[in-house]
Amino acid sequence: MKALLVRGPNDFSVVDRPDPVPATGTAILRIHYTGICATDIATIAGQSTVARFPMTPGHEFIAQIEKIEEDSEFRVGDWVTIYPTEGCGTCSACREGHPNHCPDFKVWGVSRDGGAFAERMVVPVKQLLPVPERLRNSAGALIEPTAVAVHALRRARLETGQRVAIIGIGSIGLLIAQAARAGGAAQVTLVDRLPGRRATAEALGFSDFMLASNGNLANELSQAPGGPFDIVFDTVGIPATLEAAIASLRITGYLVALAFPHGDESLTLPYRMFYRKELSLILSRNYARDDFIEATRLLDSGAIASDVMITGSFPLSRFALALDALRQQPADHIKVLINPSIE
Ligand SMILES: [Zn+2]
Ligand SMILES: [Zn+2]
Repeated sequence: MKALLVRGPNDFSVVDRPDPVPATGTAILRIHYTGICATDIATIAGQSTVARFPMTPGHEFIAQIEKIEEDSEFRVGDWVTIYPTEGCGTCSACREGHPNHCPDFKVWGVSRDGGAFAERMVVPVKQLLPVPERLRNSAGALIEPTAVAVHALRRARLETGQRVAIIGIGSIGLLIAQAARAGGAAQVTLVDRLPGRRATAEALGFSDFMLASNGNLANELSQAPGGPFDIVFDTVGIPATLEAAIASLRITGYLVALAFPHGDESLTLPYRMFYRKELSLILSRNYARDDFIEATRLLDSGAIASDVMITGSFPLSRFALALDALRQQPADHIKVLINPSIE
């Protein structure tokens, strides 16, 4: 089968790899659409702390079952995605049903080979999730990133009528915004340093956009429309954005940090302000299986505008071109998909 193979940092190509071999309790999937994520870009650049080369990345996808055992609850031809997190199965987190808190959890296409930038994948049947009819197309590739947003909102314990700001509106930030609105947020303010994101925000029905200048983000966000905020989501995770979140939160507000740390850097917090406002710092990492159920429901309900979110689609053979589009024109793209089922 054709698959993207990353041999080392920035050393990748689409090659022939052996077809995956089915084993007891597994299914062979035929991949239709796979989203390119910031994690994939970090993996390819050699900046991932969990990837091991050589590997085929890709973890946001929709597929059809090509082979499965007959006594399974799924059938050949069913449209599926997967819960891509698998724990060791024996630690206390795994035994309590939280593989996303397992110290050794692995994610297909992120921390283990066999990802979805390929024509086929083999996965345990227990990881399969059904996809409703409306999402049996490119929209189905948004289930995984939407689960990231759902998890962050769950961690934030959003309540109806709350005021929310999101710093950094790439695909995850925009998904959080839409999920927050669907969850009853009365105010959603979006912050980004790309001027083009204003039009994206408007296309999604968000009128409160703040362009982050190179000045003092904390001052700017404190005066942004809609504040002070009950919850600020920081998808960037650098000192300037954390400081801005803290400055713009109301008393007892929640700062939700969800950027993936790509190095070992420590972050400092303005302790005095943090203390005075009695703020809470909440971290959000990965997702639980339930987050996929809620993400699927949200997408199926139309609360997430997949047509605005998906800005490009390329065949697998054009992977390098898709990556260039994302790297060189970040303002033009939100989510770019690879379609391994067409030439
Ligand atoms: Zn992702
Ligand atoms: Zn475990």
